[in-house]
Amino acid sequence: MGPPASPIDLHLHSSASDGTLSPQQTVVAALALGMQVIALADHDTVQGVGPALEAARGALLVVVPAVEINTDYEGREVHLLGYFIEPTSEDLARSLRALREARRERNRAILQRLAQLGRPVEESRVEEIARGESVGRPHIAAALVQAGYAASGQQAFDRWLGRGKPAFVPRPSFTPQQAIAVIQGAGGIAVLAHPAKGGAEGLLPRLAGAGLQGLEAFHTDHSPRAVARYLALARQLGLLITGGSDSHGPGADRPVGIGSVAVPIWVWEEMSRVRGRRTMP
Ligand code: AMP
Ligand code: ZN
Ligand code: FE
Ligand code: FE
Repeated sequence: MGPPASPIDLHLHSSASDGTLSPQQTVVAALALGMQVIALADHDTVQGVGPALEAARGALLVVVPAVEINTDYEGREVHLLGYFIEPTSEDLARSLRALREARRERNRAILQRLAQLGRPVEESRVEEIARGESVGRPHIAAALVQAGYAASGQQAFDRWLGRGKPAFVPRPSFTPQQAIAVIQGAGGIAVLAHPAKGGAEGLLPRLAGAGLQGLEAFHTDHSPRAVARYLALARQLGLLITGGSDSHGPGADRPVGIGSVAVPIWVWEEMSRVRGRRTMP
């Protein structure tokens, strides 16, 4: 692997959700690459934020406390990033706990379906794979691969776990508007993640009306043309621009390097400015 494309990566996952590296290992990897700013944005949990901040103490690396909340908007999966959230916020903890409990119920229903389909997987196995407190379909996919029922996590989604597939079970989740409120209630900046995925782009004007503050323009899945379009859209709607790799660590189903997306320095400068102006809970 060559040097990173940027010393700034505002979208990383750890083993607190579905990443392969622990929060500490994520910080160590970022330091080894010479990163300057990273944000740990695990799905529906801030469990990794404290350990990551601790691991970066005294080092020349800024760790931004963050979270990624998977929401549902009329059957579309819309992900919201919350930056600079207060990781010890009680309200945030309560909301995220409810989401994780809904996940647990749903995971059990998925495993039941899989058993009926002749692909039994133990819940304890899924939890061992997950390690962290936010457990979801990517972990079930990994368990299916381990059991020899699928060649890759992607195949597990394509055959069973994806929306509309036989083991798919919907999960009660927040609306994007609710997630924006939860993030802002914890002092965070609410940003729409990877608008190219799941048809979230069309919702932008409405979400901007609901208090959305930013847009993830730079992302692994965005072509240069897409980036240009999102930059223009963000400016038009007065949204902050963010970006990151969405790395889930080495050995993830789709390995993406930390710092592999060319996020310009001005993104972080602008974000730091907005941080100073944000409303406190
Ligand atoms: P969950 O939060 O348990 O619903 O899992 C959502 C995660 O599963 C997403 O963040 C993706 O990483 C992954 N995912 C969802 N749909 C698919 C799909 N069709 N193919 C591959 N991965 C998917
Ligand atoms: Zn993920
Ligand atoms: Fe996402
Ligand atoms: Fe992500």
